[in-house]
Amino acid sequence: MSDQDHSQLSPETRCIHGPVRHEGPGVNQPLDVSSAFIHAHPDDPILYPRYHSLNHQQAVASRLASLEGAAAAMLFSSGMSAIATTLLTLLKPGDHAVFYQQLYGGTFALVQQELRGQGILVSLVEKPDIVLFAASLTPQTKLIYVESPSNPLLDIVDLREVAALAKQHGLLSLIDNTFATPINQRPISYGFDAVLHSGTKYLGGHSDLIFGALAASHELVERVRLKAILLGSALNALDFYLIDRSLKTLALRVERQNLNALELAKRLQRHAKVRKVFYPGLPEHPGHAIAASQMDGFGGMLSFEADLPAEHLPALLRRLELIQPAISLGGVESLICVPAWTSHKALTAEERKRAGVSETLLRLSAGVEQIEDLWNDLESALS
Ligand SMILES: *Cc1c(COP(=O)(O)O)cnc(C)c1O
Repeated sequence: MSDQDHSQLSPETRCIHGPVRHEGPGVNQPLDVSSAFIHAHPDDPILYPRYHSLNHQQAVASRLASLEGAAAAMLFSSGMSAIATTLLTLLKPGDHAVFYQQLYGGTFALVQQELRGQGILVSLVEKPDIVLFAASLTPQTKLIYVESPSNPLLDIVDLREVAALAKQHGLLSLIDNTFATPINQRPISYGFDAVLHSGTKYLGGHSDLIFGALAASHELVERVRLKAILLGSALNALDFYLIDRSLKTLALRVERQNLNALELAKRLQRHAKVRKVFYPGLPEHPGHAIAASQMDGFGGMLSFEADLPAEHLPALLRRLELIQPAISLGGVESLICVPAWTSHKALTAEERKRAGVSETLLRLSAGVEQIEDLWNDLESALS
């Protein structure tokens, strides 16, 4: 199939069919578990897993690239590896970078410790308002980095506006697309330069893999690959087997997760023991209109403030029989966690309050279970 024809396929189909068909009689992508490859002539290619140069590495990456509408992609040993390697490739001491302040905890720590520690200047934008992004630019600014929907309050950033601002000033725009997945949101189509993922979450989808991904232009991916070779961030072949398998069901899983999250958000909103629900699919969410214009589905993540004393949360979590209290997200099984005990634990109560993270905020990752079973579980634990 030509590149042109392949790009006409829908994301659901691209989960299964990549731009290039592998050779060989099996329908699945063959894997090479070797770490040593024959090199018997000066013109032989240098094959080595850490170089991200093996066929199966490139085949799986090209399927993800195609899902994101990017020219190229590469996979890393974790989401943090993808994020750190990319940022350390693009920024040097004296450069300035702008981040939307609602960041995954590990990314926030990377910004505060590693980037600032190396003399890279950083601005954190507090509200998803393009005027604030524009006001934070300096002559040293090199890139703008956002998460949308963000963790844990599901803030929505207007992706078209951010990409346009970056273009206008000759900057790179980067997004962590973990929460949305390429099924719900394809930022490159709005002008973003680079899309990052914690594949550990939805792309893997079964809470048994850890990996990360970058999708971008050939030139940008190649720059990051040269750094990744030195930092050492490759995955082993058996993980590729599971990633290859997981990607095939990504659309099916995410479509069900979207439905479950939307329905749970609506029902929670009417529940007497719930003060507030954060979900971009609800018309009351401040980012709803923008989310509706840039997402095909609103995602499987929601959070809500329980109207209970914080001391009652451990008992509430114990009463849940299906929804498991666990960190992480994006798997086929529904998970719930308390951000004040996990991602926002290091903050003081006052700082948490300023970040909008109440002591009784619960973050729920909707799985693919049947909705009435999930609701019965949640409802009886809350009541
Ligand atoms: C989990 C997560 C990461 C980090 O990914 P790892 O695979 O744990 O390294 C980055 N961004 C977001 C939004 C995440 O949820």
